[in-house]
Amino acid sequence: MGALNLEDLPLKFHFIPYPAPGHMIPLCDIATLFASCGHHVTIITTPSNAQILLKSIPSHHNLHLHTIPFPSHQVGLPPGVENIGCANNLENSYKVHQATKLLQSPIHQFVEQNSPDCIVADSLFLWMDELANKLHIPRLAFNGFSLFAICAMKSLKAHDSMSCIIQGLPHLITLNALPPIALTKFMEPLLEIELKSYGLIVNNFSELDGEEYIEHYEKTTGHRAWHIGPVSLICRTTEEKAERGQTSAVSVHECMSWLNSKQPNSVIYICFGSLCHFSDNQLYEIASAIKASEHQYIWVVPEKKGNEDENEKWLPKAFEQRNKGIIIRGWAPQVVILGHPAIGAFLTHCGWNSTVEAVSAGVPMITWPIHDEQFYNEKLITQVRGIGVEVGVEEWSIIGFMERKKLVGRDIIEKAVRRLMDGGIEADEIRQCAQEYAVKAKRAVQQGGSSHKNLMALIDDLKRLRRYKPLDS
Ligand code: UDP
Repeated sequence: MGALNLEDLPLKFHFIPYPAPGHMIPLCDIATLFASCGHHVTIITTPSNAQILLKSIPSHHNLHLHTIPFPSHQVGLPPGVENIGCANNLENSYKVHQATKLLQSPIHQFVEQNSPDCIVADSLFLWMDELANKLHIPRLAFNGFSLFAICAMKSLKAHDSMSCIIQGLPHLITLNALPPIALTKFMEPLLEIELKSYGLIVNNFSELDGEEYIEHYEKTTGHRAWHIGPVSLICRTTEEKAERGQTSAVSVHECMSWLNSKQPNSVIYICFGSLCHFSDNQLYEIASAIKASEHQYIWVVPEKKGNEDENEKWLPKAFEQRNKGIIIRGWAPQVVILGHPAIGAFLTHCGWNSTVEAVSAGVPMITWPIHDEQFYNEKLITQVRGIGVEVGVEEWSIIGFMERKKLVGRDIIEKAVRRLMDGGIEADEIRQCAQEYAVKAKRAVQQGGSSHKNLMALIDDLKRLRRYKPLDS
């Protein structure tokens, strides 16, 4: 028997997800991906988040959860509220964010005692760079954005422009409005510290971000980005898919059997992610638009806990009695719904996960961004890749819980819905393009596909790094 080669041994990873669905879901999918390649993976999280993960991540003998207590009382949160997705209001979501800063010391202690070959952490943990440097551990950064959005943010900053045209990108991109200064200020340290990491992991495939943006990013930053997605395509059961992120508010089988009774591309799916709460007036406008369009729908509306009447107040008269659709009050099994052939369009806030999940399912999008990088994602969808149409919103919020000043009227919502759902040449072209990207997405994650090759190359790189680890670490 030959000598054991260090490069044949599995790598040891620590994954540290940020407690918000849009961050935690994809990073834990990435953790599963590394575990399924035979590496030892530990996800460091808190007790309530671990409960959510246990239901949705496929069990794997080399994938473990390590829980550390959540400092609820130190920040004044009720027990069990450990995720921004369960925070329900701006104040509590801020407290969850504050609590994540207090996790530094227990995480440091755990990592020091159980040193991995690599840390893969959310960029929102700004202190992670210091920790990884102190312990001489390579760090991969993850921020949950598309690389296109990162390039757009960096270009806006570099050109310090007061115009909505983003200079210096491979395409001429025009925003509907400029981002608020507070948001730019929040993003700056995150994007800076990220550049000090060994590389950036992106939940996307290179065909959707485009080689031109990957080149642009690497040339302008000198930093490496690894496209290894879409990670929602990892293998798991329908039940695991349905519980991805939170417990589904509906029976996935009932939902599927309703969809099974519908024609292909005849139902519009409406969901604004895990953080967006609209006013009753805004919900009324959406309901009026859907009613006027006469299309069938599945509409996800966050539940208003403790007051059942509040859940109904905003609906136009006899809206639900028309039997045209389903309103899901709470968490929807989104990936399962998007994968059904009856879904013909997705009215979305352009959160990156929702976007890449729609692309993977070949569903064209009606874009209505709310906050953060969603406004750049919208442009990738509509101006660059041609797989969606815009509602035409201009108002940026800092976070989804915030009240918006302007109401988005029913007429422009209905118009955008009809552009995709009524058929015609434009709708057919967009749908075809969306379906072509779905084929590319699936190909990317298969053996020999672009994302699979990137994953293998990244693992090889990390094995080489392990060989050169300093002796004192
Ligand atoms: N999601 C879901 N059911 C819901 C709402 C959201 O499964 O009712 C999932 C969705 O599939 C996606 C994530 O939650 O994976 C939301 O992430 P995204 O980046 O789209 O938006 P965010 O919630 O961060 O604004």
